[in-house]
This record gives sequence, structure tokens and C-alpha cells, in this order.
Amino acid sequence: MNQVSRVVVVGAGIGGLCAALALAKQGVQVVMCEQATRLGEVGAGLQISPNAFKVLRALGLESALQPLAFVPQNAAIRDYKTGEYYLKAPLADQAEARYRAPYWHLHRADLHQVLVDACSAAGVDIWLGAALSHYNDDPLSGRICAVMEDGRECWAELLIGADGIRSSVREQMLGPEQPTFMGQVAWRGVIPVSDLSIHVQPDACVWAGPGRHLVSYYLRGGEYVNFVAVEERQDWRSESWREEGDVKELQRAFAGWHPEVSELLSAASSTFLWSLNGRDELPRWHQGRAVLLGDACHPMLPFMAQGAAMAIEDAYALAHYLTRFALPDALRQYEQLRKPRATKIQNMSKANAGLYHMHGGVLGKAKLRALKTVSRVFPQ
Ligand code: FAD
Repeated sequence: MNQVSRVVVVGAGIGGLCAALALAKQGVQVVMCEQATRLGEVGAGLQISPNAFKVLRALGLESALQPLAFVPQNAAIRDYKTGEYYLKAPLADQAEARYRAPYWHLHRADLHQVLVDACSAAGVDIWLGAALSHYNDDPLSGRICAVMEDGRECWAELLIGADGIRSSVREQMLGPEQPTFMGQVAWRGVIPVSDLSIHVQPDACVWAGPGRHLVSYYLRGGEYVNFVAVEERQDWRSESWREEGDVKELQRAFAGWHPEVSELLSAASSTFLWSLNGRDELPRWHQGRAVLLGDACHPMLPFMAQGAAMAIEDAYALAHYLTRFALPDALRQYEQLRKPRATKIQNMSKANAGLYHMHGGVLGKAKLRALKTVSRVFPQ
């Protein structure tokens, strides 16, 4: 028998939807509150490593996602100008052989849509235009109430804060946060392959250059190429996936790079700009009947491609404990399992900032050694 019967999830991002689905599949009644008035995700790619894939498989999503995936052949690190390979390691074969699960690239919108469909089929009630204002945790009644900015209320036995990097649930639980700007910004975009006049290698490729790097990989069976271009900068930008960037500025920043890169960027008609911030471990992830998951409690830099993967793992682990243990034990066990692992990945991602950047025109032996390890290891 389930230990909680009704849960409210704040935020219908990848982490929140996975938690809602995992709980609904166990017979828990789930209400989701999403601030957006329309469901959807920004156009960008996600690398889904075997650890995240195994959760998606356990949630029964493999067959719906498979036609939408792209399987990269190699993990590659190339010189920004000459295209010389510093590293070319088999990725598809290695993932299957070591982890018995694939390494996939997915369009965020595709993964999001498959999750929304599965949640709807499992009976999750999704409220749109429902921005959380605050919550009232009432220990006497044993219930918690999510209060929306428009005055709507949703009562449940537990509130899950899956409301991302600028989480209101985290702020109410732990107070305002002070992120540290890492001196880097990231542009990202998705280009239809039909707009390209040259062939891009079917790899998860990092192009390493002076003070910059660019990651490129295919999405949706090879229909699109995704790029994330990182540049060292001193000026602060907004930390939002939806902040428009200037394509011309992006093209200028990567001018003179290898034709595969310059062709890719010259085909970009729009781009988004993201400011990269480092964060420290939170003192705790739960209080009373409120608990956090995903970017709300461990936002991380993209240098291990593990932010969404950790949110997906959190969701599954939280649902596992909630359906087996009473509160607050379930929350304690969830935090005990997840916090050390997510914090380790968060710190490793931070330590990788700058690893792909040349200084003095070269990558340096120490960086190359570290890169070879990073590209061969993903969390199990
Ligand atoms: P989000 O996806 O941010 O979802 C939060 C949701 O909550 C949103 O729908 C939002 O609208 C909603 N919300 C917010 N506030 C409220 C409110 N008050 N009331 C109601 N709703 C609210 N990760 C990977 O695993 N692989 C990758 O390859 C990868 N690449 C990346 C590349 C870049 C450049 C960056 C910056 C990140 C990358 N990540 C990657 C990280 C990944 O995108 C995030 O970690 C992941 O999306 C977090 O999911 P989430 O569900 O916790 O939060």
C-alpha cells in the first residue's frame, strides 16, 4: 500500500514530469502546477547517458523515445581550426558493452512531449498557468497547500518542488541563493540538417579552442544538429533558457574555426544565450512536507551533461521511497541516497569548466589526460 495518496508537483519540466509519472504509475494521485500557459520545451538537445536512459526504460518510455533518438558513434575532441582529433573513443559500443544501455541524444521537446503524453495516460492532472506563489505546510492536518499567484489552492500530503534553477519552493524552504558567475556564457541552438551544405560527423563532438569550445551533435535520427557554444566572458547575462542571443555576435566569436563549425553557425537563424553559474551544495533538500528535486536543489554546469540525468534519477528514487516508506522517513532516505551523488556530479561539472579551452594556443598534456578520462566515464 502507498504511504502517500496525493502529491502536488510544482513544475512540469523533465524532472517534475518523471516524478509525476513514477508516482502515478504506483497509484498515487498527482496534481502538477506549471507556470507556463502552454506545455512545451525550448528547442535544444539533451545527451541522455545510460544512467538516465535506464530510468526512462523503467518508466516504460523506451519504445516511444527510440524513433526520436540519435545514437552518437564516438565521443570526439577536435582542434578548433585544423579539425585534428585529440580523442575519438567509441561511444555507442562502449555504452552498450559497459552499461547494457545506449547513449542517446534527444530533442528536449521530444522527451518533454513523450513524458506529458505518458503522464496524461497515467491520470496526472496538469494545471497550466499555475505559478506557485508560496506553500502552507500545516502539521496539524498533516497536509500541505500549494497557493498559486492567481489564488488557486491545491492540497496534498506532499509538495515536490521541481521548479528548476530559480525555484520558489527552494527559496521559501532555505531563503534566497547567491549563485557565482563562472565567467562563461553558453549559446545554444538547433539547425535543420537540410540547411547545411557540409556533412557533420555523427559524433558527440567537442571543438576545443582558445577561451572557447563548441559541442555539436545530431538529434532526432539525424534531422537536426544541436550546438552549445561556450565562451569565457566577464559580463553577466541572465540565467534563462529563453534569453535570446545575437547570432552575429555568436558567429563573430567563433570566426575562423573549422568549416564544420563555421558552416553550422552560419546556418543558425536564432540562438539563446545562457549565463553559467556555479552553486554550492544545499544544507538540506526537504523540510516538513516539502521536498526538492532536479535543478531546484542541484543546478549544475553543463560540462558533464548530467543536469537532466540527475533530475530523472532523483524523480525515480523519490517515487521509490514515497511508495514504500512513511513520511518523513521516505524523504530522509531519498536525501541520503541522492544528495551525495548529485553533489559529486555538481562539483565534477564545476571542475570541468575550462577543461576544453586552450590557453597559449594549446590544450596542454594535463588537460588532454583529464579529457580522455572525462569522455570515457559517465555515471552508472
Ligand atoms: P526545468 O527543466 O527547469 O523545469 C522547471 C519547470 O518548473 C519549468 O517548466 C518551469 O516553467 C516551472 N516553474 C518554475 N517556477 C515555477 C513556479 N513558481 N510555479 C510553477 N511552475 C514553475 N542535462 C543533461 O542531462 N544532458 C545534457 O546534455 C544537458 N545539456 C545542457 C546544456 C546546457 C547549455 C545547459 C544550461 C543545461 C544542460 N543540461 C543537460 C541540464 C538540464 O537542462 C537541466 O538540468 C534540466 O532541464 C533540469 O530539469 P528540472 O525538471 O529540474 O528543471
